[in-house]
Amino acid sequence: MSDLATAHQLGEYIDASPTPYHAAANGAKLLQSHGFEPFDPTVPCRPGRYYVCDSGALIAWVDGDNPVAPPRMIAAHTDSPNLRIRPKPDMRSAGIAQLGVEVYGGALLNSWLDRELGLAGRVAVRNGTRTDVHLIRSEKPLLRIPQLAIHLDREINDRGLQLDRQRNLNPIWSLERPDLPMFRSWLSEQLACDPESILAWDMSCFDTQPHQVFGRSDEFIAAARLDNLMSCFAGLEAISSVSPDVDRPAVLMLFDHEEVGSSSATGADSALPSRVLEQRSLALGIERSQWLDSLSASVLLSADMAHGTHPNYVERHEPNHHVILGGGPAIKYNSNARYASEAATAAEFKIRCADAGIAVQEYSHRGDLACGSTIGPILAAQLAVPTVDVGAPQLAMHSAREMMACADISLTVSAFTEWLRP
Ligand code: ZN
Repeated sequence: MSDLATAHQLGEYIDASPTPYHAAANGAKLLQSHGFEPFDPTVPCRPGRYYVCDSGALIAWVDGDNPVAPPRMIAAHTDSPNLRIRPKPDMRSAGIAQLGVEVYGGALLNSWLDRELGLAGRVAVRNGTRTDVHLIRSEKPLLRIPQLAIHLDREINDRGLQLDRQRNLNPIWSLERPDLPMFRSWLSEQLACDPESILAWDMSCFDTQPHQVFGRSDEFIAAARLDNLMSCFAGLEAISSVSPDVDRPAVLMLFDHEEVGSSSATGADSALPSRVLEQRSLALGIERSQWLDSLSASVLLSADMAHGTHPNYVERHEPNHHVILGGGPAIKYNSNARYASEAATAAEFKIRCADAGIAVQEYSHRGDLACGSTIGPILAAQLAVPTVDVGAPQLAMHSAREMMACADISLTVSAFTEWLRP
């Protein structure tokens, strides 16, 4: 498939996945189309293709002829920084109805201004004695956070834009109306239910502009949530292409809540990975001691986006470790274990890519800037498994709209496919 076709495929996955819940559900749908079945831990199973989808997390695996062999694994995160709707969101000011939001993760706040935003997430609705949880997204733009006019903020271009998270980010969504509480009434229209039956929600704003390929020769893609739905997409593509008679298990794990520390029921810093992987081995009839041996000999690739070198800010990057857009995935190193790469795991990734003719780059953060992190060190610790941190280069990380080179999407899919090979 061409770089352009792969870029549009990624763009469609991202456009359809405004929240981690959508990203996991759409990932499960993609896996189903490749013959993966939902896993039931209460029923013994034969080696095959299975997945577990739990809120914003998705774990999938392929077992072939030798399910006791140590798995080769890839992990990534489904969440991205955004604006989340408060439990009592209805506000009004200056004759305008607004929604109260809270910032999720390390968002570049300015990037949320002057965009037409939609609403997406999940809603818990009372249905008799039980509660139903519905996944929803608005079909049309609903909200906007207009920037203050320059005539009312004369020093902005010299001083820089300052945004107060409490006062300056609440989106506007209507002229004042009498039907308060408006948010609940809007949800009830979407779900065709009684407003009183709506109990709670996990709702976010998202940019409604779809992905766009651009550049002199269509070299780039701009989209929301490239960090880290690009890595989820590459992992899904890689595991979907694993042959059913593989003689070493392949595992893909996608987790929520990386942007806020990963400590949650569906985050990487939870019992979810070890629990699901052990349930898999029990269902296959593998002894616990055998499974623990197998896990200790397995290997993990932690997939998260890398900082490409920004042409307008070259000095912000470590001089010997420039990562070039279009130059292929980068291995990420950090002496203080913000990334989990070690010599042996990095070497293995390099060998597999070299044998397949895939270019690999190396990233190291500037010593005088605080380095970001990934789920790599967390999962390496949770599972005690050697790990390499790898990511495709991008620019504008944590903006509402990020960009990367189309060539890096295909190269990363190929690299991850090589990683899962026995
Ligand atoms: Zn990330």
